[in-house]
Amino acid sequence: MRSVFSIQKKQRLFTQTAALLSLVSLQAPTHTSAFAPASFLLPSVVTPLFLSTAATMPETLQVVQLPCLNDNYGYLLHDATTGATAAVDTPEAGPYQAELRARGWTLTHIFNTHHHWDHTGGNLELKSSEVSIYGPATETIPGIDRPLRGDDEFEFGGSKVQVIDVGGHTKGHIAYYFPDERKVFVGDSLFALGCGKMFEGTPEQFWGSLKRLRSLPDDTMVYCAHEYTQSNAKFAQRVEPGNAELLERVKEIAAQRARGEPTVPSLLGLEKRTNPFLRCDVSDELRANVGVREGDSDAEAFAKVRRAKDTFRG
Ligand SMILES: [Zn+2]
Repeated sequence: MRSVFSIQKKQRLFTQTAALLSLVSLQAPTHTSAFAPASFLLPSVVTPLFLSTAATMPETLQVVQLPCLNDNYGYLLHDATTGATAAVDTPEAGPYQAELRARGWTLTHIFNTHHHWDHTGGNLELKSSEVSIYGPATETIPGIDRPLRGDDEFEFGGSKVQVIDVGGHTKGHIAYYFPDERKVFVGDSLFALGCGKMFEGTPEQFWGSLKRLRSLPDDTMVYCAHEYTQSNAKFAQRVEPGNAELLERVKEIAAQRARGEPTVPSLLGLEKRTNPFLRCDVSDELRANVGVREGDSDAEAFAKVRRAKDTFRG
């Protein structure tokens, strides 16, 4: 009798576990990558449904990360409820067209972050009467329908989107922040362990932009537009070798790249603690290593970190 009871108990446990796993799998694909293993899925998206409350409703916004050109990332955002589908930047049309076809999605929006060709090059090929192109008001964006400025807000599917002015890499650069989903699409303003080159803006402008990004919650996922992390890591390590968490991160990045995995997106909290460009005003070691003097403003400190990176030959 005891063994029968034991088998029944095991079967019941198995059934409960299988049910739980099927619930988890309903939520798992909220972030998928064309080349990421399952471990790349974020822990935050696999909360079992039965633990969800009104405050932690299942996410409906799916993000697909697309490698484009040599080292760009494009993103497809899909709102499962309304079917709204957006490309964040368009380095080239081909990977988007293939992904849209494979998933049976129809593109409805393009969100451009700035005017560089490797962010807008696919705009006109992807544009149709169903596609509305959003982009910075002060830059030349092919096919633009909706010019945006910092602090503008709009709805995408069921999500609220806030526009953040992140000028500096280019003067009119904007980021798209989804506050409820804790995701920010930053283009070339902020990279994992780095930031974009200052092609058009001033140090004051760029530093102000980085501070705006830094003010977002630590659990915000940062989706940047290039896989530059490993080379950024060499510079970060050189200017702040005493940062133990940075050294740990550098090791993890090397392991991820060795496995052929992306290092993007990354958690903003981790960037705050390890990215030298977000630490110009907080790390004495970093400031000393790039020659920040007493009396330098924080923007001047940023300019010195940026200059040191521009001339760094790792
Ligand atoms: Zn750029």
